[in-house]
Amino acid sequence: MATRTSTRSDRLAAYRAKRDFEVTPEPAGRPSPEDGQRFVVQRHRASRLHYDLRLEADGVLISWAVPKGPTLDPKARRLAVHVEDHPVDYYDFEGVIPAGEYGGGDVIVWDWGTWSTDETSFDLAAAVEAGDVHVDLHGQKLAGRFVLVRRDDKDGGKEQWLLLHKDDDHAEPGWDPEEHPLSVKSGRTNDEVAAAPLELPTWEPPTDDELAALADLGREGTWTFQGRELRVTNLDKVLYPGRDGEPDVTKREVIAYHAAVAPWMLPYLHGRPVNLHRLPGGSEKKGFWQKAHPDHAPDWMARWRYEDADPDETQWYTVIDSPPALAWTANHGGAVEIHPWTSTAEHPHQPTWALIDLDPGEETDWDDVVVLAKLHRTALEHLDVSGAAKVTGKRGIQIWIPVADGYTFDDTRAWVERLSRMIGQTVPDLVSWEWEKARRKGRARLDYTQNAINKTLVVPFGARPASGAPVSVPIEWDELDDPDLRPDRWTIRTVLERLASVGDPLRSLIGRQQRLPEL
Ligand code: MN
Repeated sequence: MATRTSTRSDRLAAYRAKRDFEVTPEPAGRPSPEDGQRFVVQRHRASRLHYDLRLEADGVLISWAVPKGPTLDPKARRLAVHVEDHPVDYYDFEGVIPAGEYGGGDVIVWDWGTWSTDETSFDLAAAVEAGDVHVDLHGQKLAGRFVLVRRDDKDGGKEQWLLLHKDDDHAEPGWDPEEHPLSVKSGRTNDEVAAAPLELPTWEPPTDDELAALADLGREGTWTFQGRELRVTNLDKVLYPGRDGEPDVTKREVIAYHAAVAPWMLPYLHGRPVNLHRLPGGSEKKGFWQKAHPDHAPDWMARWRYEDADPDETQWYTVIDSPPALAWTANHGGAVEIHPWTSTAEHPHQPTWALIDLDPGEETDWDDVVVLAKLHRTALEHLDVSGAAKVTGKRGIQIWIPVADGYTFDDTRAWVERLSRMIGQTVPDLVSWEWEKARRKGRARLDYTQNAINKTLVVPFGARPASGAPVSVPIEWDELDDPDLRPDRWTIRTVLERLASVGDPLRSLIGRQQRLPEL
């Protein structure tokens, strides 16, 4: 039996020494007391693309970096550089290691499964020490007998090994790992993970039968939607007058809309507390802000405790995390406006968006708003910053800019203020920096103050209290050049058709780890 150069407790020392766990999302991990026999291969686009092959043994993941990737081709001999042991928690790690950190780049779980051998009492860690490892892999892409052989010990450097596949039943001449680019964990490519490392669940819209059941209810009743029993009331009540001679919008229609738009709206609500602007009497009556999670909400509605709230502030907030929860909120709220927090419940002091609110004054006409939006478009393009414009459903335009984890609201507010003041200087007759509306002389305000905890803007696809139930809709930048663009162009009756044809240009920016450049 080979002598171990390391014991279970210190096997991860090299791993930890290379990483700052305040910065990287990788797990700090500890050696596991269990001896599992899993394997994982991660496709890692660091300074150079490579595949990390990891075999679970001795409470850790024994690891090699394989520049060209493992293959089923029995003729191939692949270089495999032996690297530091990783914690078993690394097994399903998929995400983005920040630039400048060790291994900075994107990682997907390219393949996973278990390993086995024919021997009854096989010690994999000892085989690695001896420089000769023969294992069968049972993955979704890789299968059959793989051999790892140590070639030499480079002076002071990392050990170079060879990785090959035996010519067995699973061998496939010419098999190329790059032709199998999807994550076995999420179905995503490295590009997709890099663009949005946040993994979002997917949500289903209501079925035709479910919508028909809602349509068939009387003035009130119990609607079964995705397994939830929803008590729905005042279904024929008019919440919004019709627009341009169209029929009025009833509460039944508003509930049906929120159920149907759930797959598009929930990505912006998921994991976040919400503030509701409720207009139970309809869009023409005065509304009120409700932050507190309602006492009578059903148990399956998620709620979140704001630990940092002052005693006289709201303690419990609603988190809308499913299509039935969204439908319940519509029934509860009336002509409701849903405003998610800019931060998540998990990290309430870290914004995920930097927000620019082009807030028109009484003298600002739509063309002025578009001019301001185009100036921001040019500035962001010049700065190479990704963001998307969103018409508000009322008179204005907002610009949503995704930011990396770790920013504070002070950071995003200061950055947006600096950007907006630079832009405002170019059109001084359009923009006022006065706080009080009366002193703005009807000019627009570039409102950076929304970048603060518990300050909110209306959710994408949220309805606004006006005739026809217009909705706030993210747009492509070049739609600013469309003479037919209006801030309230789409309503709850037309936006689903737009989504079906052009989709949501903001969606791919959700969770994007974007650093804001110095201004
Ligand atoms: Mn790597």
